[in-house]
Amino acid sequence: MNQNLTHKPVVAVIGGGISGLSAAFWLLQNNIDAFVLEQTDRPGGVIKSENIEGYLVDRAANCLLNYLPEVNILCDTVGLREEQIYRSPTARNRYLLKEGYPLPMPRGPIELINTNLLSLKGKVRLFSEPLIPRARMEKEETVSQFITRRLGREILEQVMEPFIGGTYAGDPGQLCLKSTFPMLSALEERYGSLIMGALIRRLKGSRASNPMHLFSFRQGMEALPKAIRHYLGDRFIPYARVNGVERTGDISWQIMADQGGHSTVYHTDAVVIATPAIETARLIYPIDPDTYEILKRIEYSPLAVVYTGFKREDIRHPLDGIGCMVPSKEGGSILGTLWNSALFSGRAPEERVALTNYVGGKRHPEMVEKSDKELLDLTLPDLKNMLDIKRDPGFVSITRYNRAIPQYSIGHQNVLKRIENMPDRIPGLYITGNYLRGISVRDCISYGAKLATRIAGDSMSLV
Ligand SMILES: Cc1cc2nc3c(=O)[nH]c(=O)nc-3n(C[C@H](O)[C@H](O)[C@H](O)COP(=O)(O)OP(=O)(O)OC[C@H]3O[C@@H](n4cnc5c(N)ncnc54)[C@H](O)[C@@H]3O)c2cc1C
Repeated sequence: MNQNLTHKPVVAVIGGGISGLSAAFWLLQNNIDAFVLEQTDRPGGVIKSENIEGYLVDRAANCLLNYLPEVNILCDTVGLREEQIYRSPTARNRYLLKEGYPLPMPRGPIELINTNLLSLKGKVRLFSEPLIPRARMEKEETVSQFITRRLGREILEQVMEPFIGGTYAGDPGQLCLKSTFPMLSALEERYGSLIMGALIRRLKGSRASNPMHLFSFRQGMEALPKAIRHYLGDRFIPYARVNGVERTGDISWQIMADQGGHSTVYHTDAVVIATPAIETARLIYPIDPDTYEILKRIEYSPLAVVYTGFKREDIRHPLDGIGCMVPSKEGGSILGTLWNSALFSGRAPEERVALTNYVGGKRHPEMVEKSDKELLDLTLPDLKNMLDIKRDPGFVSITRYNRAIPQYSIGHQNVLKRIENMPDRIPGLYITGNYLRGISVRDCISYGAKLATRIAGDSMSLV
């Protein structure tokens, strides 16, 4: 990067979702000037919160599960400390559907021994995990292969498969273990056992045992990108659709943007592309056609989000938890349901409850093509059976994503190598996004912090 004592490096960040906003935030923290070019009028990308008829509808992310200090630093610096709201103490359980009934997931070893979620054989197999020898894999292993090998088939089908369905809208038979759950692969590599590794780390008080906090914000998750935008001030440039990126010198770049029909050209020292993989592929094509080929093949699962509001008195289930995940062998349309109003206060009007149902994913990709009526006809009977609900919801709002969640499929480790080595091949060109090292808002924030540190290091080496 082009830096001398009088020149503070300037970086353009393309895309104002949480990945791009975080990258810009952390660049500023590293004393590097940065601005964000966002094609729409608002920050946040898929993160969007709307207040409709007293219901707080979060269209994508609903909450942030955090154990990382960088997330706290960001929230505090952009002034969100007072806005944070934490998981209600009554929302203690996570449920899994078994033979049509939601059963609470065990929260400790005693509950695990007593749970009806697993058979005796399944429990014995689970507890014998420390005896399973460590495997040295030549090739990337799928989540299914790893979980079956270490914990047994029952854990895969009853716990991991619904978890992957509910969070990644994905298929554990296709996802790369090392990319999707790097922590699990590291535990096996280091300690030879997941159970022993987790125990040792807990005893040592390592990062993995930092307390997890599940939180959101009073006005919903969009408060986060809005606050970062406020912090960035006029460094956030809306209505700026980037249609070209060009390298104009060893370490100088120009970015062509369409700003409401006007073409604007920005000259910078470096570029961070923070758009979804397919758009990043398009932008990068003239610079690096090989990376274009890799990026355009990154798969995303489709998802329909069916948000429902019911009268509390119409639901028999106590709703004393976060929600319920559904294994595929249970059949039905729902991957998982999140109980928003049980989780956080202020999500639904008095005496009403809000439930968000996730439908489609890799399990039923055809579902996103269905009309609202078809989706409701499929979803409501399943939801009513699951939670013993007497009447239809009084409020419904549906959001569809053709490309919702990126899938870290087999081969993802090579994608990472290619992307993360890029600045060595093409100085000044960096990529971030939820399709690299974590789909969660937490991981996008954390990746932005690491990227900014790297950019700061690269800029110093050129002084
Ligand atoms: C239904 C759903 C539920 C989720 N729930 C949770 C949850 O509860 N908790 C959690 O932690 N995570 C959750 N996630 C994941 C998380 O919300 C996303 O992974 C994350 O918000 C993605 O951020 P991003 O910035 O990488 O991408 P995006 O949000 O897609 O942002 C990309 C941005 O780039 C802009 N852009 C694109 N092309 C251009 C261009 N040419 N020029 C300028 N700008 C451009 C877009 O307009 C957009 O603003 C959920 C995701 C979905 C879809």
